[in-house]
Amino acid sequence: MATKIQKIGVIGAGQMGNGIAHVCAIAGKDVFLSDLSQEQLDNGFATIQKNLDRQARKGRITEKQVSDAMGRIKLNTTYDDFTDCDIIIEAASENEDVKKEIIKQVCEIIPPHTIFASNTSSISITRLGAQSDRPGKFVGMHFMNPVPMMALVELIRGIATDEPTYSAVRELTLELNKKPVNAEDFPAFIVNRILLPMINEAVYTLYEGVGSVEAIDSAMRMGANHPMGPLQLADFIGLDTCLAIMHVLHDGLADTKYRPCPLLVKYVEAGWLGQKSGRGFYDYSGETPVPTR
Ligand code: NAD
Repeated sequence: MATKIQKIGVIGAGQMGNGIAHVCAIAGKDVFLSDLSQEQLDNGFATIQKNLDRQARKGRITEKQVSDAMGRIKLNTTYDDFTDCDIIIEAASENEDVKKEIIKQVCEIIPPHTIFASNTSSISITRLGAQSDRPGKFVGMHFMNPVPMMALVELIRGIATDEPTYSAVRELTLELNKKPVNAEDFPAFIVNRILLPMINEAVYTLYEGVGSVEAIDSAMRMGANHPMGPLQLADFIGLDTCLAIMHVLHDGLADTKYRPCPLLVKYVEAGWLGQKSGRGFYDYSGETPVPTR
């Protein structure tokens, strides 16, 4: 029998963490959301309110569900609320050192039965799990962005992940009204193994002058029927996250075809991280995004 999950700790209130908190709260779970600063927590909380209100305006949920869900989310800049959580879902920045430090600190205070799930887009679950005191209860739970709208959750077993843990997160995924797909523990799993090389190639296409931002995105929207062009999608994911995933693919698979495009590196060095920083391949300072090249 899989453990029934009711109390959920979420680490990181960024675009993924606040989305995960949103879907957990609307499914009736108690959510404990943690980030480095009160400002990040307040921004995440405001985003959840805004997104729930939008769902209510569209008639998908009631006003009461909105207020009940908001009432189930507790914010804290420390991990102190995690001491009786059934699962911790880590959605902090895509940086292995940051994640390892979080795992170390959090494992010291959570009880032995607590599952630790990482929402990493690309880093080895086996390697992260080995940093914890509970490799058997360590698992990958990779939500898609934006979490409230996207059906898929990739579930990834590390080599040591035990079956009750996998069953419990599968059950939780279904309770959150999402569709689980199993992915093996290879760099970037399934979706990003396929998606990120395409985005990186789009940046090369821009870098080599094959097309402008507008031309590349329009071509892929109209020519491949993608709902969003690859450069717009890169801005949406976050260029720092895209670059981090390309590094994981390049290092993990040792194949030059995964070499991150130098232009992507430059944008990240400049702090042009996409939508979340106000500028990436598009400038988001006005009413409508304006291509920058
Ligand atoms: P983000 O930059 O929007 O948010 C990251 C948050 O983590 C920030 O608010 C940051 O303050 C917080 N953080 C950093 N260190 C922390 C710590 N020690 N303790 C608590 N909080 C900490 O990034 P994001 O897009 O939400 O990505 C988060 C994770 O989700 C990454 O692992 C990423 O690869 C993964 N992911 C991202 C996407 C996407 O499309 N952006 C999709 C699926 C998975």
